[in-house]
Amino acid sequence: MAKCVYCESETELFDNGVPVCIKCSKRREMTWKTMATLQEIRNILLHDTLEATARHNQAREEFEAIMGQIPSGLPQTDGAHWIKNASSSLSLARKGMMEAHDRLDKFLESGIVPEDLRSDFTRR
Ligand SMILES: [Zn+2]
Repeated sequence: MAKCVYCESETELFDNGVPVCIKCSKRREMTWKTMATLQEIRNILLHDTLEATARHNQAREEFEAIMGQIPSGLPQTDGAHWIKNASSSLSLARKGMMEAHDRLDKFLESGIVPEDLRSDFTRR
């Protein structure tokens, strides 16, 4: 009988020609799943960060476009209203971008999975 390459217990199970016992095979499968999950989480966070950055750039462009339309001197009432709107959109977008970066950084540096993603992945 062949011996498992990991724990040397006897086994009849082969994985790609390599003898592996059921226990080690399961453990390996778990490791792959965990790695796939971590990869998935990283991709989600990366995607969120890129999206938030794109939203921020868009908001900044809109803000700059509005500022460029306002002639020098005191803006009209409408102008002031637009500036206020564009400015608050911009700070919201900036906040979102910073939060997304923060989530990604925390995950990459310390492996902290954000609370809202945690339940999705632990239930599997
Ligand atoms: Zn084994």
